[in-house]
Amino acid sequence: MPKTIIAGNWKMNKNLAESVQLASEVVKVSGKASAGVELVVCPVFTHLEAVKEVIKGSAVKLGAQNCYPADSGAFTGEVSGSMLKAIGVEYVILGHSERRQYFHESNEFINKKVHHVLAHGMKPIYCVGELLEEREKGVTHQVVTEQINAGLANVTADQMKNVVIAYEPVWAIGTGKVASPEQANEVHILIRNLLVKLVGDAGKEVTIQYGGSMKPDNAKELLAQSEINGGLIGGAALKADDFLAIGSAK
Ligand code: PEP
Repeated sequence: MPKTIIAGNWKMNKNLAESVQLASEVVKVSGKASAGVELVVCPVFTHLEAVKEVIKGSAVKLGAQNCYPADSGAFTGEVSGSMLKAIGVEYVILGHSERRQYFHESNEFINKKVHHVLAHGMKPIYCVGELLEEREKGVTHQVVTEQINAGLANVTADQMKNVVIAYEPVWAIGTGKVASPEQANEVHILIRNLLVKLVGDAGKEVTIQYGGSMKPDNAKELLAQSEINGGLIGGAALKADDFLAIGSAK
């Protein structure tokens, strides 16, 4: 059975003091999450170290929101996987739709990041999902298939054990519009089949999160679907109680 992972993508929100405060509130409530559910918090780069100190000794894990696929060098403004690993980061969100949209990241470039993160012993949370116009044109499966095949190219079965997928229909992110549980699960089933095609049985163990306006009031129904194994949470991760409500919905 894939592990249930609920990850909070704090995006570019919260100053240092607020991040420390939110992390300590998450730690405080984390014991009430459902058994077997892993909680992950993903603050901005500059707050990773402080948040790491706060979650030390708890079951809450640390994630980053991006990284650059080179160890060091002339890449002004970027942060490498080895730098994140040294802080104690376990998960790295890659290919979020906001990075695809605003920073023009391609599947091929994200694939380099996936390999970089895996090479440094961390776990990529690889985001895929279609735009509204793609769903309306009926090409959701084509888009997601291309994202999975190109973004995960040359990932071995052994490495795939450390990969997490987040299916995030772009039209549902931050909009309050949620994919219906059935709509979401249909794409999760597609992703599961693609993973099995890529790496065989190891693909059955990969956690596939849903992301896109997941909230306390819809989490239970979404997480009850056969292939929804967790959530990547934006807005609702900014309040510890809401985050916990999702973490205890399964
Ligand atoms: C996200 O950006 O990953 C996300 C799912 O955001 P929200 O929950 O706010 O839709």
